[in-house]
Amino acid sequence: MSQKRLQPEIHKFGGASLADVAAFRHAIAIVKARPGQRVVVCSAPSGVTDALLGMARRARGGQEAGLAGESVALRRRYLTILQAIVPNKTARRAAADEIERSFDELDALLTSLLVLKELTPRTSDFIAARGERLSARLFAAGLEAAGEKSRYVDAVDVVITDGPYGGASPNLMLTDMASRKVLRPLLDRGVLPVVPGFLGAVPAAADDDDPGIVRPAATLGRGGTDLTATLVGRALGAQQVLLWKDVPGMLTADPRVVPHARIIPQLHIREAAELAYFGAKVLHPRALIPIAGRNIPVFVRPFADPSMVGTEISARRTLDRYPVKALSAMPGQALITVQGSGMLGVPGIAARTFAALFDEAISVSLISQSSSEQSICFSVPETAAKRARTRLTEEFREEIAREEIDNVEARTGLSTLAVVGLGMAGHPGIAARVFRALAEANVNIVAIAQGSSELNISFVVAQTDAAAAQRAVHDAFQLAKIGGGAAAGGDHVDVILLGFGQIGRTLAEMIAKNGGKTAGKSGKNGVGREGSGGGNGTSAARRGAKGVRIVGAIDRSGFVLEPDGFSARDVAALVALKKSGRGFAEAPGGRVARPADAIATLATHALSRPVLVDVTADETTPLVQAAIGSGMDVVLANKRPLSGAREAHAALHGLAEKQGQRILFEATVGAGLPILDTYKKLAESGDRVLKIEGCVSGTLGFLLSELGRGRSFSESLRRAMEKGFTEPDPRDDLSGADVGRKALILGRLLGFEGEPEEVQVESLVPAELQKLPLEAFLERLPELDAPWSAKVAAAKAKGAALRYIATVTKNKIAVGLRAVDGASPFAGLKGTDNQIVFTTSRYRENPLVVTGPGAGPAVTAAGVLNDILGLAG
Ligand code: ADP
Ligand code: ASP
Ligand code: MG
Repeated sequence: MSQKRLQPEIHKFGGASLADVAAFRHAIAIVKARPGQRVVVCSAPSGVTDALLGMARRARGGQEAGLAGESVALRRRYLTILQAIVPNKTARRAAADEIERSFDELDALLTSLLVLKELTPRTSDFIAARGERLSARLFAAGLEAAGEKSRYVDAVDVVITDGPYGGASPNLMLTDMASRKVLRPLLDRGVLPVVPGFLGAVPAAADDDDPGIVRPAATLGRGGTDLTATLVGRALGAQQVLLWKDVPGMLTADPRVVPHARIIPQLHIREAAELAYFGAKVLHPRALIPIAGRNIPVFVRPFADPSMVGTEISARRTLDRYPVKALSAMPGQALITVQGSGMLGVPGIAARTFAALFDEAISVSLISQSSSEQSICFSVPETAAKRARTRLTEEFREEIAREEIDNVEARTGLSTLAVVGLGMAGHPGIAARVFRALAEANVNIVAIAQGSSELNISFVVAQTDAAAAQRAVHDAFQLAKIGGGAAAGGDHVDVILLGFGQIGRTLAEMIAKNGGKTAGKSGKNGVGREGSGGGNGTSAARRGAKGVRIVGAIDRSGFVLEPDGFSARDVAALVALKKSGRGFAEAPGGRVARPADAIATLATHALSRPVLVDVTADETTPLVQAAIGSGMDVVLANKRPLSGAREAHAALHGLAEKQGQRILFEATVGAGLPILDTYKKLAESGDRVLKIEGCVSGTLGFLLSELGRGRSFSESLRRAMEKGFTEPDPRDDLSGADVGRKALILGRLLGFEGEPEEVQVESLVPAELQKLPLEAFLERLPELDAPWSAKVAAAKAKGAALRYIATVTKNKIAVGLRAVDGASPFAGLKGTDNQIVFTTSRYRENPLVVTGPGAGPAVTAAGVLNDILGLAG
């Protein structure tokens, strides 16, 4: 178990996630619900930055009309949100004053711009900065009002840049130092810092006009709040950075262009960076630089549905089946071509070309040089095309005069498309597939470049073709099949155990014995040795090791997590801990959490194909639902989530279907026996199951076979209890409730639409004994001996035996005591064995029988493991 020092989470809320009162409330609730240390980074509410910059531009242009009104409207927007999230007037006074002061200042600035008619990048940034600053102040005040100790921390105290205004580059080292110095003491005191995004301090050297003054912040470029979040995450060694946005995650393409765009469950950090750089508007192009090489996963999370995991951006490589994972497009591009038959002999044309562009601060995004060296071609933003052309024409004036260079051409109205995926390097022919798809869609390619990194092919098309081109490529690589969460396709199945009783422990031991931490990774406990070599080296065991690992376990006190999988030694330590009466919260590295929060936290970890395995006997339906909602498959040994109210049961399956997750539950009936599997095979082969009858309680089976051998009831029950076949209170078995639940699960397979109350259950506990304390009940057991002996004798006299049987059809479910005659398959049943009899259209005369051990931790755990392996395969 990793024993990490406290690592905060960074929560960034984008503009859409802070758009209005409801969004603020939701965002505050998300932050409040998370355990542990947190830092919040805020964007301005959506539209605010555009509005502020637009006002500044209009003021500079002398257009006074509408400015005052717009300023008032924005001021009100902030005040309205503040009033709603901080109802107490005194509590909101400071933030309200700050809003008023900031907008008074804005009005003054606009007035002077109207006069000066000059807008420097510095002033523009100063104006825009209030968007995020006020937003963060509101958020901090809202958190306080919601009972969370919180503090506004200004961006200039946390992010330090090297300038320039208008698009400052962060200074990583200074930012690390400043962030740690300011934020750590707050976190250590349990205070939650709220920082405005998009901004950073400007060093004196970058601001040469007046070294004496208090320096305003510089902006980090549009969308820069993402960057603030990763900068803070890096400085604090965050556990993870969560970017809450109005999309379900990073998608395979811009959803506005490609309607079939899908959530990418996981992206390598280089892939995500490439997409951001090539125009995927969802991330700031430089947002991933601060965390390169750090083990800090970034999650793009859907603000609208916090139960979904969104997209993980990390150092893992998954989804190998998809050499191409996503597309992005940069619209508004121009292609500049420098060409001439005389270029061939002139050295340094390319170097001079790019030096000139660098000088003009024009960024080039795609370069291709024809092999004959007769032309150099590259794309620049359309807005810079004219400048680029003028500058290059000047640069090459002499060459043009000598006719070595014919001319410098600029073609506008283009889009640069990038096709991105790390797997491209290992898959030949990707470019050919791209171009075939484009040809079939009648899209003409203007220019092509393959990135040297081999994780990107980019090409230029006419802007009017861009949408068709993206759809064609998206289809060609079947990206619509990448699917949400479920198709995450990592090479492991990561098991999270809910419950650690007998079954849970047995299962954990089975899995850990065969695997544990992945071979090659030296876990701190040295389990790399145990996991990879040791005495378990059968090939089957090694397969098991590669396929399944236990990464988390949850009990009522909290949870433990080991992303590399628990080793056998880890499991033994956990078993010892539980045996000593302690919970996971007290384990080394364990965390205190309610099960729901534990699932939420585990769901945000970089797990591969996560499966929640419920081995409790509790009412866990909401937990199972949350697990499915956050992209986990589910394996149940617990019957309760499947045997509750009809609507809840339908909702669970409905959710699983919607999310593309699976629920397997073989172990709920007949432990490890293939009962549901048999049903499924019959149904799949076109047979119709008419009736299922069964002895599905090992406990009652044992009891009745002891009685049949002439033992008294009290003696038989005592033996069952001694052998650990019963629940602590044996009435839980004798009541028939457990068999009723199993019968309902079977009935629902056959289409039974009733409620649990409609299952007819015969209790073996007389009414007058049902409510007694356990002790008293056990004392009075001998009272039951005589009536039971009489029942057994009566059955015997008719050549019959007593069995507790579930009878299940589509329309009726009944469980109870039956006297079965010698010809019945149930008559020969021994001990704890279970037996299930399927009567089907094909097996009408000679029903199909499944018999075998149906109780006990080992066989139940084996049944669960079988389901888990089913998910792995
Ligand atoms: P934030 O609110 O955090 O600033 P943005 O608005 O910057 O979020 O990013 C989300 C937007 O990015 C979405 O509205 C979506 O239309 C756009 N987008 C473009 N390409 C993609 C993509 N590949 N995946 C997800 N969203 C994309
Ligand atoms: N508010 C800024 C923008 O709109 C920064 C951000 O939202 O990330 O670009
Ligand atoms: Mg953004």
